[in-house]
Amino acid sequence: MGVPIDGKKVALSFKEELLNLIKERVADGLNAPCIASVLVGEDKGSLFYLKNQSRVCEELGVVFKSFIMDKDSTEESVMRKIKELNEEDSIHGIILQLPLPEELDEEKIINSISHLKDVDGLTDINAGRFYKGEKCFIPCTAQGILELIKSTGINISGKNAVVLGRSTIVGKPVAQLLVNEDATVTICHSKTQDIRKVCKEADIVVAAVGIPKFVTEDFIKEGAVIIDVGFSVVNGKMTGDVDYENVIHKAGFLTPVPGGVGSMTPIMLIKNTCEVLK
Ligand code: NAP
Repeated sequence: MGVPIDGKKVALSFKEELLNLIKERVADGLNAPCIASVLVGEDKGSLFYLKNQSRVCEELGVVFKSFIMDKDSTEESVMRKIKELNEEDSIHGIILQLPLPEELDEEKIINSISHLKDVDGLTDINAGRFYKGEKCFIPCTAQGILELIKSTGINISGKNAVVLGRSTIVGKPVAQLLVNEDATVTICHSKTQDIRKVCKEADIVVAAVGIPKFVTEDFIKEGAVIIDVGFSVVNGKMTGDVDYENVIHKAGFLTPVPGGVGSMTPIMLIKNTCEVLK
């Protein structure tokens, strides 16, 4: 029987460290860290993440300023708002809630965020620095996933890791982080042939395809570490990319949904914002 990876517990250890850091800063008479969030429209997933981010910021004494713009906002107006936030010294980190409405040029808007305040690691400057191994902001979900894998105590070096999904925000950065830890990494996507066979060779599987219960027992090697990034709502219930009940018997470690990866992302966001202040 596999061991569930308690994302809330792993997040708590980071929370305590960050809370102390922020308390010390405020006791020294400095401003509390401040994150500005920009949401354009009313995407349900984004509203959920926004609520979660705002709650965790409040728990840690981080100021969270939310700017919700009309879904019909123009590219220019969104970029004007971001420019304002770039220039406002009291704001340390900026997050742009994705996806943006289809009519807007996502790349152009992302890259209008100052790379010095891009705590989600989305801009080309931060991405370029990340893949070159230079100091930068790394996408928060990917960082959280690596911490969850490390929390199992396994030695990542030399292990076979399979990442399902190649998005810029999850799949690719997770794969790079695992390569940096000396794992041998395979990335699978919608054109990969026989994903099941590829996964069966893996000591670590990170599932980020967004398809509920995509990964079943027959995908995995006995004792593997399985990280479920997926987040879908099925019949009103949060559901991951891994068929938890089916896989937990065979996995070594497995993250639940909810209570796994989702617990780490907002903490990593605050960790990145605290880096701005150093
Ligand atoms: P995404 O941009 O939609 O990317 C999905 C990836 O899955 C793509 O690379 C796609 O391949 C691949 N894929 C789709 N169907 C496939 C199939 N049948 N077989 C193999 N690969 C397939 O999604 P994302 O932004 O990376 O997010 C993935 C999931 O993680 C979503 O459920 C999302 O809600 C969740 N998420 C959770 C958090 C959190 O903090 N908990 C954060 C971010 C995302 P192609 O490239 O070939 O199209």
